[in-house]
Amino acid sequence: MEDCLFCKIIKGEIPSNKVYEDEEILAFNDINPAAPIHILVIPKKHIASLADMKKDDEIIVGKIYGVINKIAKEQGFKENGYRVIVNCGKDAGQEVMHLHFHLLAGEKFGDKIV
Ligand code: 5GP
Ligand code: ZN
Repeated sequence: MEDCLFCKIIKGEIPSNKVYEDEEILAFNDINPAAPIHILVIPKKHIASLADMKKDDEIIVGKIYGVINKIAKEQGFKENGYRVIVNCGKDAGQEVMHLHFHLLAGEKFGDKIV
């Protein structure tokens, strides 16, 4: 997708602070963190939103959760815990139309919705 911000990050046309990368998945720090640790985990395949997922995309979503757990372990917040958020569509406030998982950690969130 030519006009997609996250596709441009995947292609390296826009710089990002990478946390993890493999053939199918990229994770990088959010530019405007809502928590001490705020990482975005995305499929390299352009999927506009959770609602645009096809049946085959269920595999990559499962892998993304695996990557999230790997990052949590590597960065040392697995024990304390973490929150994963996916905004889907306008009522959820999705701004970037490329499926992304917000991985938030480093504080006690309680009932706070990020
Ligand atoms: P959404 O509101 O769509 O769920 O989340 C989009 C996220 O992308 C926001 O948390 C925002 O801070 C982040 N973001 C927007 N533009 C950029 C960018 O150019 N680089 C990075 N690293 N994050 C971005
Ligand atoms: Zn995209």
